[in-house]
Amino acid sequence: MTQTNPLDGTFQLVELPYAADALEPVISKETISFHHGKHLQTYVNNLNTLLPGSPYEGRSLEEIVCKSDGGIFNNAGQILNHNLYFTQFTAPEENNKPVGNLAVAIEQQFGSFEAFKEEFEKKGSTLFGSGWVWLAADQDGKLHITQEANANNPITKGLTPLLTFDVWEHAYYLDYQNRRPVHLSNLWSIVNWAAIDKRYMK
Ligand code: MN
Repeated sequence: MTQTNPLDGTFQLVELPYAADALEPVISKETISFHHGKHLQTYVNNLNTLLPGSPYEGRSLEEIVCKSDGGIFNNAGQILNHNLYFTQFTAPEENNKPVGNLAVAIEQQFGSFEAFKEEFEKKGSTLFGSGWVWLAADQDGKLHITQEANANNPITKGLTPLLTFDVWEHAYYLDYQNRRPVHLSNLWSIVNWAAIDKRYMK
């Protein structure tokens, strides 16, 4: 998923697995174009500028996120977070819901998909400032919903990141202005649950 240029090892902007307007009306083409084409591209450019000569040159993105701090951590974390974010969506679908082993685990642990969604949205809505709400799995396959500030990722806590909603304002302000909770509740219709189950089964 993390693409690097084979010639010079620099990190590359992740490709969207859908057209820029495919997620409308949940996320507009305009938001995708700024969020992916400008915000994420800037994190990629920044990291490629900061890495040469640092101890993290040539390391994987995951390793950099787990070991670095400061500007390298912030930009690497945002690349990892956005790569997972942008590759987890698909065109809107009514009654979209989890599939496979992950569906069973969500049901067992949270009681129902509805109860899971409620807790996830609440953690996303109440996260103060900029950050991310995550569904992540521990080594026993147990699920955790975590709030991560700024560029953080649950990988730094030894968890495997599965699903994430970006609560930085740049993710929703053009389409929803200050209505973060509405944005979060609309995102469920575009989650590609087959892709999330694949992350879980790894
Ligand atoms: Mn973002």
